Amino acid sequence: MMIRFAIIPLLLALNFSMCKRHESAANSSQPATSSPAAGSPAVAPAASPPKITKAVVDQTAQTIIFCYHRLVDKVRYPGTEITPADFEAQMKLLKDSGITVISMQDLLAWKRGEKNIPPRCAVISFDDGWKSQYEVAWPIMKKFGYPFTMFIYTEGVRGGSLGGGEAITWEQLADMRDNGVDIEAHSATHQDLREGHNIMLAAPGGKKTRTKLNGPEYQKWVQNEVVGSKELLEQRLGIKANCFAVPFGNYNEHVKELARNAGFEAMFTVYGQPITYTSPLDSLGRYAIEANKPKVFVDAVKMISTSSGGASAVAEVGAANLSTQPADGETVRTALPLIKANLSRVGAIEPGSVQMRVSGLGVVPVSYDPKTGTASYQVTQKLRGTSCTVILSAKSEGKKVEAHWTFGIDVGAAAPASAAAKATTTPKKK
Ligand SMILES: [Zn+2]
Repeated sequence: MMIRFAIIPLLLALNFSMCKRHESAANSSQPATSSPAAGSPAVAPAASPPKITKAVVDQTAQTIIFCYHRLVDKVRYPGTEITPADFEAQMKLLKDSGITVISMQDLLAWKRGEKNIPPRCAVISFDDGWKSQYEVAWPIMKKFGYPFTMFIYTEGVRGGSLGGGEAITWEQLADMRDNGVDIEAHSATHQDLREGHNIMLAAPGGKKTRTKLNGPEYQKWVQNEVVGSKELLEQRLGIKANCFAVPFGNYNEHVKELARNAGFEAMFTVYGQPITYTSPLDSLGRYAIEANKPKVFVDAVKMISTSSGGASAVAEVGAANLSTQPADGETVRTALPLIKANLSRVGAIEPGSVQMRVSGLGVVPVSYDPKTGTASYQVTQKLRGTSCTVILSAKSEGKKVEAHWTFGIDVGAAAPASAAAKATTTPKKK
C-alpha cells in the first residue's frame, strides 16, 4: 500500500481562512480611487486595501454528500431509517477520518471559484421533512457543530396534502432557518417528474387518483412541482432556494431546463459519488444512507479519505520513504502505540505547521524535532477498534503536504500496554 502525498499550494490554504463573501462585494464595488464618496474624505490610494480579485481555490478538493431520512430508535423501514446511535457514530467517523463537514452553500461557492474548502469534505442533507430531523438529528448536528441542508417537498410539510403526523411543521422549519440551517427544494409532491410516468394526483377533497399526464396538463403539473414548490418555500420562509433535490433522482433534460430557468443553481440525485471541482452542477450525486446498508457510508468515506484530488498536484511515495512507525499495514500488539514518521525527505518543514490526526482521537499534540525531521506522538488514551489511521500534515516550502497510513491493532495479543509501547520505541539490537 502506498502513502499518498497531496501537495497543495500554500496560497490555497491561506485563502481558505480568508474569504467569506467579501470578494463578491469587492467585485461589485468600484475601485476606491475612481469614486471617492461624496462628502467623505478622499481615500489615499496607498491606504486602500489590496484589490481582491478571485479567490484561488483548491481544485483538487473532494466532497461527498450524504442524504438521510428518518431517525428512529427501532428501524422498521431500513431503506429510509437509521437509529440515532448509528447516525451519531457516522458523524463522528467523519470527524475521526479528517473529513470536514461543510455547508452546501460553501460547496457551491467553491464550485463557483469564490471560496476555498478543505481537501476532503462532506455535506449532510436530510430529505422530505420529517419531524425526527428536527427533534433528533438537529441536536446531534449541533453537538458536532456541523452545518446541514434540509430538502423539503412542500406538500409533505405538516398541513399539506401529504404531511401527516410525522411531518415537520413550517414553524420548525422557520426555527431551523433562524439558526442557520439551509432549507432547499425537493418538489411539491415528491414524484417522478418525467412526462408520461405514473403519478398520484390529490384532489382538493383529498381523493387520490393514479394517472399519467402528457402535453399541457403535464407541463402545468411539472411547473408546479419544480417552480411552484420553490416559490412556496421561498415565500413561506422568506429564503432563497438555489438547490433542487430531484425526487428518486428521476429527471431528464426537460426537467433540468425547467429547474435551471427557475433559478436553481444545483440539482441533486441519489447516485452517490465524490463531487469534484468539475462535477456538473445539474447532477450532483448524493449517497443515500440506509440502515441496512452501512457499507455505503463506509465506502463513501473511503472514497475520499484514500483518494487524492487532481492528478497533477499529487505525488505518491512509498511508505518506506517516511519510515512510519507503526508502518502502513503493520499490526501492533498495543492500544497505546508510539506513532512516528520521518519528514526529512519531504524537504524543509515549517516547525509549527506539523499536525497529526489519529482516528478515534482527532488532532493530537504531536511533537516535531527539526534536527531529525521526526514527528512523533505517544498515544496516551487506548485506541479502540482493530485499525487506526494517521493523517500527518505539514507545510514545506510554501506547500501543504499530507500523508495517510493505517495500521492494525491486535489487542487480544497485547502485552501489558506500557511494555508494548516501550518495545516499539526500542531500536533493533545491533
Ligand atoms: Zn425524497
